[in-house]
Amino acid sequence: MKPQVIIIGRPNVGKSTLFNRLVGKKLALVDDQPGVTRDRRMGDADIAGMAFTIVDTAGWEDDDPETLPGRMRKQTEVSLEGADAALFVIDARAGLTPLDEEIGRWLRGQSVPVVLVANKAEGRAGEGGVLESYSLGLGEPIAISAEHGEGVADLFGALWPII
Ligand code: GDP
Ligand code: MG
Repeated sequence: MKPQVIIIGRPNVGKSTLFNRLVGKKLALVDDQPGVTRDRRMGDADIAGMAFTIVDTAGWEDDDPETLPGRMRKQTEVSLEGADAALFVIDARAGLTPLDEEIGRWLRGQSVPVVLVANKAEGRAGEGGVLESYSLGLGEPIAISAEHGEGVADLFGALWPII
């Protein structure tokens, strides 16, 4: 069975855009409105000889902020089952939010290897967010632009040793 890599992160950080980039097709719906992806979507990534199944998660992108953390955790727990690695995506332009910190704290307590991905890092607007993300304690962030296809080689470099 191919290794499974799961994309995790709060709404609107670019998870579905990254999924589409890695699969090479627009299988996941991308939208400016948080909460567009309702289901887990799986696709095949096969780049430079590294083949893996990629999973776009979004079940916790609930409209009700009151229930967000609880739902997020539950969905993430379900999604992490069977995953060989997690890509934890943050928005380098927006910087860290309390929800990013909560997800990061939670992921630090999980056994799955995590690659921290600072998305929307094209140009200079993301530099502060990339630096800030070191404070999550999840190692060196991989700066990418899922939309523009930048940093994907670095992402593979980080994934390659762990899957
Ligand atoms: P998700 O909710 O995490 O799945 O996020 P989406 O993939 O739906 O993207 C949310 C928004 O961020 C959309 O408007 C995307 O076009 C935008 N976006 C995604 N990746 C990038 C990127 O690399 N740079 C910039 N500037 N915007 C991005
Ligand atoms: Mg999505």
